[in-house]
Amino acid sequence: MLDHAQSLGCQVRQPVSVHRVDREGDRVTALGLDDGSELRARQYVDASGHAGVLRRAIGVEIDCPTSLQNIAIWDYWQNAEWAVSVGVGGTRVQVLSLGYGWIWFIPLGPTRTSVGLVVPAAYYKASGKRPEEIYRDAVENDPVTRRLMRNATSEGRLSTTKDWSFVARRLAGDNWWLAGESAGFADPILAAGMTLAHLCARDVAYAILAEESGEQDADWLREWYDESNRTKIGRHIRFADFWYSANGYFSDLQVETQAIARDAGLDLTPAEAWRWLGTGGFIDGDRVGTEVGSFSLGAVKLMASRFLDTDPHYEIVGNNTFYLDMDGAEERWGARLENGKMSRHRTHHRDGKTLPEVGVYAALVSATRSGTTSARLLAAIQANTSRAGLAPEKAASIVQETFVALEAMVCDGWIRASFDASLPPLAGVAGGDAIIHSNRDPREKKEKTTGLPQATA
Ligand SMILES: Cc1cc2nc3c(=O)[nH]c(=O)nc-3n(C[C@H](O)[C@H](O)[C@H](O)COP(=O)(O)OP(=O)(O)OC[C@H]3O[C@@H](n4cnc5c(N)ncnc54)[C@H](O)[C@@H]3O)c2cc1C
Repeated sequence: MLDHAQSLGCQVRQPVSVHRVDREGDRVTALGLDDGSELRARQYVDASGHAGVLRRAIGVEIDCPTSLQNIAIWDYWQNAEWAVSVGVGGTRVQVLSLGYGWIWFIPLGPTRTSVGLVVPAAYYKASGKRPEEIYRDAVENDPVTRRLMRNATSEGRLSTTKDWSFVARRLAGDNWWLAGESAGFADPILAAGMTLAHLCARDVAYAILAEESGEQDADWLREWYDESNRTKIGRHIRFADFWYSANGYFSDLQVETQAIARDAGLDLTPAEAWRWLGTGGFIDGDRVGTEVGSFSLGAVKLMASRFLDTDPHYEIVGNNTFYLDMDGAEERWGARLENGKMSRHRTHHRDGKTLPEVGVYAALVSATRSGTTSARLLAAIQANTSRAGLAPEKAASIVQETFVALEAMVCDGWIRASFDASLPPLAGVAGGDAIIHSNRDPREKKEKTTGLPQATA
């Protein structure tokens, strides 16, 4: 990436590090480098990862909105077996639950694999074991990992880190921006680090371009960057909590999620609160699509069903009538980033949830304003896709995308779903998501379906 940036005109200096940050109030005035030179710029971006060089120098505090305090212990291995071969350049990451923690198993190349163990810091302390002991026990005692590593040799580079999730209280100031892990970190269970770093980096690049060209207001750009990226990091942290709460060791998190729900004005039992956390907030204010924790909503539902050993639950299945509900929502601007240009669109905010009025969401807002039925919705999409002459697979994926967006809007409370017995039930939606695979033996357990009826379109 560094070489690529250089090939595009970036001036790269290496090896060199920033050892001094000069500032006047909230404004950075220069960076002192350890080769004795000084750098001055119009804008400064802190992409220094966990070091958070600029964040610390400016004194931006951090919040840790979770009680999860884990440690990670990992090593790299040669010649571990691949659980699933998916061809050159492809890999399949495994997450193996141990009850007291979990193991990541990530093939990095033809012969090299990263194998890590994540356990609560309290468990580690109580065990009285050294990191290498606790790691060896986990790898040797888990039958799946043991089998995959029977011929593997360690590179002997055992490392540990604490991976407390956090988010900085402010991500942008007068002429500075925090991006990537300097802005925040979410527990590695969702492997969100690179996604979050890339999203921050992209947003900073767009924001600086829009400010320098005078196309967007500088204050608004900072507000937008700060809010949307803090929300993204916070959502990953919250969603990581959700996954841990399915693990026996972390059952106290159900009570914590109840407290989070209460903060959002909802009085729920721990179990209801846990469900609420796992089903809400799927809509990203800037992006057209439904996702949480880097996964599509369909994938999240499928994963949840595997954790809970139930069929995936869809609010829209069993209902057929849909009404828009914007009561009490506040309007703000969201940003659309496309081809190097930033444009604004209307977004709606309520109870910590955001709805961008763009793309499929804008279409659903207009379709449900005076109420619609699933049959009418399906007919309208089919008329549009056939008018546009789309191939059947493309048409089917638009049907699926629309109904998954409808599901997200129902989960987030933007649309009220009900059942009218005089109308046919929902039909004609393609479900499924190819991202998540379980290593279950299909002979032992019937594979789960997505819960959405398959396409008839
Ligand atoms: C063991 C482990 C496994 C992980 N696995 C995954 C995974 O599977 N998937 C995933 O998405 N994420 C994973 N992550 C997280 C991911 O690596 C980070 O979230 C990501 O690298 C953050 O990117 P960044 O650019 O913000 O920071 P970094 O990648 O940490 O880069 C920061 C850079 O700043 C430089 N720097 C620091 N201080 C200074 C200074 N004073 N002057 C100049 N330069 C400085 C550093 O040398 C470094 O090059 C993992 C992390 C760990 C530790």
